[in-house]
Amino acid sequence: MGKKDIETRLIHGFFDRQQHFGSLAPPLYQTSTFTFANAEQGEARFAGNESGYIYSRLGNPTVNEFESKIADLEGGEAGLAFSSGMAAVSAILIALVKTGDHILVSEGVYGCTFGFLNIMKDKFNVDYDLINMDNEEPIKGKIKNNTSVIYIETPINPTMKLVDIELVSKIAKERDIFVVVDNTFCSPYLQQPLKLGADIVIHSATKYIGGHGDVIAGLAVGPDNFIQNVKMTTQKDIGGVLSPFDAWLLIRGLKTLAVRMDRHCSNAHYLFEKLKSHSKVTNIVYPGDPEFYNHQLVKRQMKNFGGLISFEVKGGKQGAQRFMNELQLIQVAVSLGDAETLIQHPATMTHAVVPEEERIKMGITDSLLRLSVGLESEQDIWNDIETALNKIN
Ligand SMILES: *Cc1c(COP(=O)(O)O)cnc(C)c1O
Repeated sequence: MGKKDIETRLIHGFFDRQQHFGSLAPPLYQTSTFTFANAEQGEARFAGNESGYIYSRLGNPTVNEFESKIADLEGGEAGLAFSSGMAAVSAILIALVKTGDHILVSEGVYGCTFGFLNIMKDKFNVDYDLINMDNEEPIKGKIKNNTSVIYIETPINPTMKLVDIELVSKIAKERDIFVVVDNTFCSPYLQQPLKLGADIVIHSATKYIGGHGDVIAGLAVGPDNFIQNVKMTTQKDIGGVLSPFDAWLLIRGLKTLAVRMDRHCSNAHYLFEKLKSHSKVTNIVYPGDPEFYNHQLVKRQMKNFGGLISFEVKGGKQGAQRFMNELQLIQVAVSLGDAETLIQHPATMTHAVVPEEERIKMGITDSLLRLSVGLESEQDIWNDIETALNKIN
Protein backbone atom coordinates (compact mmCIF):
# COMPACT_ATOMS: atom_id res chain seq x y z
CA MET A 1 0.00 0.00 0.00
CA GLY A 2 1.57 3.30 -1.08
CA LYS A 3 1.42 6.53 0.83
CA LYS A 4 -2.08 7.97 0.91
CA ASP A 5 -3.01 11.38 -0.44
CA ILE A 6 -3.02 14.37 1.88
CA GLU A 7 -6.84 14.56 1.93
CA THR A 8 -6.85 11.07 3.47
CA ARG A 9 -3.90 11.60 5.82
CA LEU A 10 -5.57 14.70 7.25
CA ILE A 11 -8.39 12.49 8.48
CA HIS A 12 -6.71 9.26 9.54
CA GLY A 13 -4.10 9.39 12.26
CA PHE A 14 -1.63 7.12 13.97
CA PHE A 15 -3.19 5.94 17.24
CA ASP A 16 -4.24 2.30 17.43
CA ARG A 17 -8.03 2.29 17.74
CA GLN A 18 -8.08 -1.25 19.12
CA GLN A 19 -5.95 -0.11 22.05
CA HIS A 20 -8.69 2.43 22.84
CA PHE A 21 -11.95 0.42 22.83
CA GLY A 22 -12.25 0.93 19.07
CA SER A 23 -12.79 4.67 19.55
CA LEU A 24 -13.16 6.33 16.14
CA ALA A 25 -12.05 9.74 17.40
CA PRO A 26 -8.66 10.06 19.09
CA PRO A 27 -8.90 9.79 22.89
CA LEU A 28 -8.37 12.93 24.93
CA TYR A 29 -5.83 12.36 27.71
CA GLN A 30 -6.65 15.40 29.78
CA THR A 31 -4.08 14.75 32.49
CA SER A 32 -1.13 16.63 33.91
CA THR A 33 0.86 13.62 35.07
CA PHE A 34 1.15 9.85 34.61
CA THR A 35 1.39 7.36 37.43
CA PHE A 36 4.15 4.77 37.57
CA ALA A 37 3.41 1.14 38.41
CA ASN A 38 6.22 1.23 40.96
CA ALA A 39 9.33 3.16 41.98
CA GLU A 40 11.57 1.23 39.61
CA GLN A 41 9.40 2.11 36.63
CA GLY A 42 9.63 5.79 37.56
CA GLU A 43 13.40 5.47 37.79
CA ALA A 44 13.59 3.70 34.40
CA ARG A 45 11.45 6.35 32.69
CA PHE A 46 13.50 9.22 34.04
CA ALA A 47 16.70 7.43 33.07
CA GLY A 48 15.34 6.99 29.55
CA ASN A 49 15.63 3.20 29.81
CA GLU A 50 11.91 2.69 29.35
CA SER A 51 9.60 4.56 27.03
CA GLY A 52 6.36 5.90 28.46
CA TYR A 53 4.84 9.09 29.70
CA ILE A 54 5.98 11.01 32.79
CA TYR A 55 4.38 14.46 32.89
CA SER A 56 2.38 16.30 30.21
CA ARG A 57 4.95 19.07 29.75
CA LEU A 58 7.34 16.33 28.56
CA GLY A 59 4.79 14.54 26.40
CA ASN A 60 1.13 13.56 26.25
CA PRO A 61 -0.55 10.96 24.00
CA THR A 62 -3.17 13.35 22.54
CA VAL A 63 -0.54 16.01 21.85
CA ASN A 64 1.77 13.36 20.36
CA GLU A 65 -0.95 12.23 17.98
CA PHE A 66 -1.28 15.81 16.72
CA GLU A 67 2.52 16.11 16.40
CA SER A 68 2.76 12.89 14.39
CA LYS A 69 0.07 14.16 12.05
CA ILE A 70 1.72 17.50 11.31
CA ALA A 71 5.10 15.81 10.71
CA ASP A 72 3.43 13.48 8.21
CA LEU A 73 1.51 16.31 6.50
CA GLU A 74 4.59 18.49 6.06
CA GLY A 75 6.71 15.52 5.02
CA GLY A 76 9.13 15.96 7.94
CA GLU A 77 10.67 13.53 10.43
CA ALA A 78 9.14 14.91 13.63
CA GLY A 79 6.66 17.50 14.87
CA LEU A 80 6.34 19.49 18.04
CA ALA A 81 3.26 21.33 19.32
CA PHE A 82 3.35 24.58 21.28
CA SER A 83 0.94 26.74 23.25
CA SER A 84 1.02 29.42 20.52
CA GLY A 85 2.64 30.23 17.20
CA MET A 86 4.95 32.60 19.06
CA ALA A 87 5.97 29.88 21.53
CA ALA A 88 7.05 27.85 18.47
CA VAL A 89 8.89 30.77 16.83
CA SER A 90 10.76 31.69 20.01
CA ALA A 91 11.67 28.14 21.08
CA ILE A 92 12.95 27.25 17.60
CA LEU A 93 15.03 30.40 17.24
CA ILE A 94 16.51 30.08 20.73
CA ALA A 95 17.45 26.50 19.90
CA LEU A 96 19.13 27.51 16.63
CA VAL A 97 21.17 30.56 17.59
CA LYS A 98 23.75 31.57 20.16
CA THR A 99 25.08 34.94 21.28
CA GLY A 100 26.96 36.63 18.45
CA ASP A 101 25.00 34.93 15.66
CA HIS A 102 23.18 36.68 12.84
CA ILE A 103 19.72 35.90 11.39
CA LEU A 104 18.68 36.90 7.89
CA VAL A 105 14.94 37.60 7.80
CA SER A 106 12.52 38.19 4.93
CA GLU A 107 11.01 41.68 5.03
CA GLY A 108 7.56 42.05 6.54
CA VAL A 109 7.53 39.11 8.98
CA TYR A 110 4.76 38.78 11.55
CA GLY A 111 4.89 41.64 14.06
CA CYS A 112 5.54 39.55 17.17
CA THR A 113 8.29 37.61 15.37
CA PHE A 114 9.86 41.00 14.68
CA GLY A 115 9.39 41.85 18.36
CA PHE A 116 11.11 38.62 19.40
CA LEU A 117 14.05 39.32 17.06
CA ASN A 118 14.49 42.63 18.86
CA ILE A 119 14.51 40.94 22.27
CA MET A 120 17.21 38.59 20.98
CA LYS A 121 19.17 41.54 19.62
CA ASP A 122 18.89 43.80 22.67
CA LYS A 123 19.40 41.18 25.36
CA PHE A 124 21.46 38.42 23.78
CA ASN A 125 23.43 40.12 20.99
CA VAL A 126 21.85 38.07 18.20
CA ASP A 127 21.81 40.45 15.25
CA TYR A 128 19.40 40.34 12.31
CA ASP A 129 18.83 41.96 8.93
CA LEU A 130 15.44 42.30 7.31
CA ILE A 131 15.74 42.14 3.53
CA ASN A 132 13.70 41.85 0.40
CA MET A 133 14.34 38.32 -0.88
CA ASP A 134 13.04 38.77 -4.42
CA ASN A 135 16.49 38.31 -5.95
CA GLU A 136 19.49 36.08 -5.39
CA GLU A 137 22.25 38.68 -5.18
CA PRO A 138 20.95 40.74 -2.23
CA ILE A 139 20.43 37.52 -0.26
CA LYS A 140 23.98 36.34 -0.89
CA GLY A 141 25.28 39.82 -0.18
CA LYS A 142 23.66 40.00 3.24
CA ILE A 143 24.86 36.61 4.47
CA LYS A 144 27.66 37.05 7.02
CA ASN A 145 30.18 34.62 8.49
CA ASN A 146 28.04 34.42 11.61
CA THR A 147 24.68 33.95 9.83
CA SER A 148 23.21 30.76 11.27
CA VAL A 149 19.55 31.04 10.24
CA ILE A 150 17.53 32.38 7.31
CA TYR A 151 13.98 32.99 8.45
CA ILE A 152 11.23 33.30 5.84
CA GLU A 153 7.53 33.97 5.75
CA THR A 154 5.71 33.49 2.44
CA PRO A 155 3.30 34.91 1.43
CA ILE A 156 3.71 37.85 3.75
CA ASN A 157 0.92 39.64 5.56
CA PRO A 158 -0.79 41.83 4.32
CA THR A 159 1.13 42.66 1.13
CA MET A 160 1.30 39.03 -0.10
CA LYS A 161 4.97 39.36 -1.10
CA LEU A 162 6.46 35.97 -1.84
CA VAL A 163 9.84 34.39 -1.16
CA ASP A 164 11.22 31.62 -3.37
CA ILE A 165 11.80 28.87 -0.79
CA GLU A 166 13.73 26.65 -3.19
CA LEU A 167 16.12 29.44 -4.15
CA VAL A 168 16.78 30.53 -0.57
CA SER A 169 17.27 26.92 0.55
CA LYS A 170 19.82 26.33 -2.20
CA ILE A 171 21.82 29.41 -1.18
CA ALA A 172 21.64 28.39 2.49
CA LYS A 173 22.64 24.75 1.91
CA GLU A 174 25.90 25.79 0.28
CA ARG A 175 26.76 27.63 3.50
CA ASP A 176 25.38 25.30 6.20
CA ILE A 177 22.70 27.77 7.23
CA PHE A 178 19.36 26.59 8.61
CA VAL A 179 16.25 27.70 6.71
CA VAL A 180 13.11 28.20 8.80
CA VAL A 181 9.79 28.86 7.05
CA ASP A 182 6.65 30.17 8.75
CA ASN A 183 3.99 28.33 6.70
CA THR A 184 0.95 29.70 8.55
CA PHE A 185 -0.69 31.39 5.56
CA CYS A 186 -0.68 28.31 3.34
CA SER A 187 -0.99 25.34 5.69
CA PRO A 188 0.58 22.06 4.47
CA TYR A 189 -2.32 21.65 2.08
CA LEU A 190 -1.15 24.52 -0.13
CA GLN A 191 2.61 24.61 0.42
CA GLN A 192 5.21 22.18 1.77
CA PRO A 193 8.47 24.02 2.42
CA LEU A 194 10.51 20.95 3.47
CA LYS A 195 10.00 19.50 0.00
CA LEU A 196 11.46 22.71 -1.42
CA GLY A 197 14.60 22.35 0.69
CA ALA A 198 13.78 24.18 3.94
CA ASP A 199 14.97 22.63 7.21
CA ILE A 200 12.23 23.61 9.62
CA VAL A 201 8.59 24.61 9.22
CA ILE A 202 6.66 26.64 11.78
CA HIS A 203 2.94 27.25 12.04
CA SER A 204 0.57 29.33 13.99
CA ALA A 205 -1.99 26.50 14.21
CA THR A 206 -4.36 29.17 15.51
CA LYS A 207 -5.14 30.00 11.88
CA TYR A 208 -6.02 27.53 9.08
CA ILE A 209 -4.95 24.36 10.91
CA GLY A 210 -7.37 24.94 13.79
CA GLY A 211 -9.71 26.69 11.41
CA HIS A 212 -12.53 27.44 13.84
CA GLY A 213 -11.25 30.46 15.75
CA ASP A 214 -11.27 28.68 19.10
CA VAL A 215 -7.65 27.70 19.81
CA ILE A 216 -4.26 29.41 20.10
CA ALA A 217 -1.49 26.96 19.18
CA GLY A 218 1.83 26.57 17.38
CA LEU A 219 3.79 23.86 15.59
CA ALA A 220 7.26 23.06 14.36
CA VAL A 221 8.38 20.27 12.04
CA GLY A 222 11.95 19.26 11.24
CA PRO A 223 14.68 16.64 11.58
CA ASP A 224 14.05 14.19 14.41
CA ASN A 225 17.27 14.91 16.35
CA PHE A 226 16.66 18.65 16.20
CA ILE A 227 13.00 18.40 17.25
CA GLN A 228 13.83 16.02 20.14
CA ASN A 229 16.49 18.46 21.26
CA VAL A 230 14.02 21.38 21.24
CA LYS A 231 11.46 19.26 23.05
CA MET A 232 13.85 18.38 25.86
CA THR A 233 15.52 21.81 26.14
CA THR A 234 13.93 25.07 24.98
CA GLN A 235 10.39 23.72 25.04
CA LYS A 236 10.61 21.71 28.26
CA ASP A 237 12.45 24.39 30.20
CA ILE A 238 10.67 27.48 28.87
CA GLY A 239 7.39 25.62 28.98
CA GLY A 240 5.21 26.70 26.06
CA VAL A 241 3.47 23.34 25.67
CA LEU A 242 0.09 22.69 24.09
CA SER A 243 -2.78 21.51 26.30
CA PRO A 244 -4.25 18.05 25.50
CA PHE A 245 -7.70 19.52 24.91
CA ASP A 246 -6.38 22.04 22.41
CA ALA A 247 -4.47 19.25 20.64
CA TRP A 248 -7.72 17.31 20.46
CA LEU A 249 -9.54 20.28 18.91
CA LEU A 250 -6.72 20.74 16.41
CA ILE A 251 -6.82 17.08 15.33
CA ARG A 252 -10.54 17.65 14.76
CA GLY A 253 -9.79 20.81 12.77
CA LEU A 254 -7.22 19.04 10.58
CA LYS A 255 -9.78 16.52 9.38
CA THR A 256 -11.52 19.21 7.33
CA LEU A 257 -8.45 21.21 6.29
CA ALA A 258 -8.58 20.13 2.64
CA VAL A 259 -12.27 20.86 2.14
CA ARG A 260 -11.98 24.11 4.07
CA MET A 261 -8.94 25.29 2.11
CA ASP A 262 -10.61 24.46 -1.21
CA ARG A 263 -13.58 26.57 -0.15
CA HIS A 264 -11.44 29.42 1.26
CA CYS A 265 -9.60 29.49 -2.07
CA SER A 266 -12.67 29.37 -4.30
CA ASN A 267 -14.52 31.98 -2.25
CA ALA A 268 -11.46 34.25 -2.36
CA HIS A 269 -11.19 33.86 -6.11
CA TYR A 270 -14.84 34.79 -6.56
CA LEU A 271 -14.48 37.87 -4.34
CA PHE A 272 -11.28 38.91 -6.10
CA GLU A 273 -13.10 39.02 -9.46
CA LYS A 274 -15.90 41.10 -7.95
CA LEU A 275 -13.62 43.48 -6.05
CA LYS A 276 -11.33 44.00 -9.00
CA SER A 277 -14.07 45.48 -11.12
CA HIS A 278 -15.69 47.65 -8.43
CA SER A 279 -15.18 51.39 -8.83
CA LYS A 280 -14.61 52.02 -5.09
CA VAL A 281 -11.71 49.56 -4.97
CA THR A 282 -8.52 51.32 -6.06
CA ASN A 283 -5.99 48.51 -5.69
CA ILE A 284 -6.07 44.80 -4.95
CA VAL A 285 -3.38 42.35 -3.91
CA TYR A 286 -4.14 38.66 -4.37
CA PRO A 287 -1.68 35.92 -5.42
CA GLY A 288 -4.28 34.48 -7.82
CA ASP A 289 -4.39 37.70 -9.85
CA PRO A 290 -2.78 36.90 -13.23
CA GLU A 291 -1.27 40.40 -12.97
CA PHE A 292 0.18 39.69 -9.49
CA TYR A 293 3.87 40.65 -9.55
CA ASN A 294 5.10 37.14 -8.79
CA HIS A 295 2.31 35.02 -10.24
CA GLN A 296 4.78 32.52 -11.77
CA LEU A 297 6.34 31.78 -8.38
CA VAL A 298 2.87 31.46 -6.84
CA LYS A 299 2.00 28.79 -9.37
CA ARG A 300 5.29 26.95 -8.86
CA GLN A 301 5.31 27.06 -5.06
CA MET A 302 1.68 26.97 -3.97
CA LYS A 303 -1.06 24.51 -4.86
CA ASN A 304 -3.73 27.22 -4.88
CA PHE A 305 -3.92 30.94 -4.13
CA GLY A 306 -5.07 30.97 -0.51
CA GLY A 307 -7.90 32.72 1.28
CA LEU A 308 -6.47 36.18 1.85
CA ILE A 309 -7.08 39.33 -0.16
CA SER A 310 -5.78 42.82 0.55
CA PHE A 311 -7.37 45.81 -1.13
CA GLU A 312 -7.56 49.57 -0.95
CA VAL A 313 -10.76 51.55 -0.98
CA LYS A 314 -11.46 55.16 -1.88
CA GLY A 315 -11.34 57.80 0.82
CA GLY A 316 -8.15 56.94 2.73
CA LYS A 317 -8.35 55.97 6.39
CA GLN A 318 -11.82 57.45 6.73
CA GLY A 319 -13.10 55.48 3.75
CA ALA A 320 -11.56 52.25 5.07
CA GLN A 321 -13.07 52.70 8.53
CA ARG A 322 -16.46 53.71 7.17
CA PHE A 323 -16.45 50.62 4.96
CA MET A 324 -15.61 48.32 7.91
CA ASN A 325 -18.31 49.89 10.04
CA GLU A 326 -20.93 49.32 7.35
CA LEU A 327 -20.25 45.56 7.15
CA GLN A 328 -22.91 43.37 8.74
CA LEU A 329 -21.86 39.77 8.11
CA ILE A 330 -18.10 40.21 7.93
CA GLN A 331 -16.55 40.60 11.37
CA VAL A 332 -13.92 43.20 12.20
CA ALA A 333 -11.11 41.21 13.82
CA VAL A 334 -7.46 40.29 13.43
CA SER A 335 -6.46 36.63 12.95
CA LEU A 336 -7.30 34.64 9.85
CA GLY A 337 -8.21 31.22 8.55
CA ASP A 338 -11.52 30.94 10.38
CA ALA A 339 -14.92 29.85 9.08
CA GLU A 340 -16.14 33.44 9.53
CA THR A 341 -14.93 36.08 7.08
CA LEU A 342 -12.80 38.60 8.99
CA ILE A 343 -11.52 42.01 8.02
CA GLN A 344 -8.85 44.17 9.60
CA HIS A 345 -7.14 47.49 8.96
CA PRO A 346 -3.37 46.84 9.10
CA ALA A 347 -2.35 50.51 9.44
CA THR A 348 -4.21 50.88 12.74
CA MET A 349 -4.26 47.23 13.88
CA THR A 350 -1.64 44.55 13.06
CA HIS A 351 0.92 47.04 11.76
CA ALA A 352 0.11 50.04 13.98
CA VAL A 353 3.55 49.83 15.64
CA VAL A 354 5.43 50.07 12.32
CA PRO A 355 6.66 53.67 11.77
CA GLU A 356 4.48 55.39 9.15
CA GLU A 357 7.24 55.91 6.61
CA GLU A 358 8.28 52.27 6.70
CA ARG A 359 4.67 51.15 6.63
CA ILE A 360 3.91 53.14 3.47
CA LYS A 361 7.11 51.83 1.87
CA MET A 362 5.85 48.30 2.52
CA GLY A 363 2.58 49.15 0.75
CA ILE A 364 0.51 49.32 3.92
CA THR A 365 -1.36 52.53 3.24
CA ASP A 366 -4.14 54.06 5.33
CA SER A 367 -6.74 52.72 2.90
CA LEU A 368 -5.51 49.12 2.82
CA LEU A 369 -7.77 46.42 4.27
CA ARG A 370 -7.01 42.73 4.73
CA LEU A 371 -9.79 40.25 4.22
CA SER A 372 -9.58 36.69 5.54
CA VAL A 373 -12.19 35.02 3.39
CA GLY A 374 -14.35 32.57 5.33
CA LEU A 375 -16.51 29.63 4.38
CA GLU A 376 -19.89 31.35 4.08
CA SER A 377 -21.77 31.59 0.79
CA GLU A 378 -19.66 33.59 -1.65
CA GLN A 379 -22.74 35.52 -2.69
CA ASP A 380 -23.59 36.51 0.88
CA ILE A 381 -20.04 37.71 1.52
CA TRP A 382 -20.08 39.74 -1.68
CA ASN A 383 -23.50 41.25 -0.94
CA ASP A 384 -22.15 42.44 2.42
CA ILE A 385 -19.03 43.95 0.80
CA GLU A 386 -20.92 45.56 -2.07
CA THR A 387 -23.50 47.16 0.21
CA ALA A 388 -20.72 48.62 2.39
CA LEU A 389 -18.64 49.78 -0.61
CA ASN A 390 -21.61 51.67 -1.99
CA LYS A 391 -21.85 53.65 1.26
CA ILE A 392 -18.38 55.18 1.00
CA ASN A 393 -17.67 58.25 -1.07
C1 LIG B 1 -0.64 34.55 13.98
C2 LIG B 1 0.71 34.34 13.42
C3 LIG B 1 1.81 34.03 14.23
C4 LIG B 1 1.70 33.94 15.74
O1 LIG B 1 0.89 32.90 16.14
P1 LIG B 1 0.04 32.87 17.52
O2 LIG B 1 -0.63 31.56 17.45
O3 LIG B 1 -0.88 34.04 17.48
O4 LIG B 1 1.06 32.99 18.61
C5 LIG B 1 3.03 33.80 13.61
N1 LIG B 1 3.17 33.91 12.27
C6 LIG B 1 2.15 34.23 11.47
C7 LIG B 1 2.37 34.33 10.00
C8 LIG B 1 0.88 34.47 12.01
O5 LIG B 1 -0.12 34.80 11.19
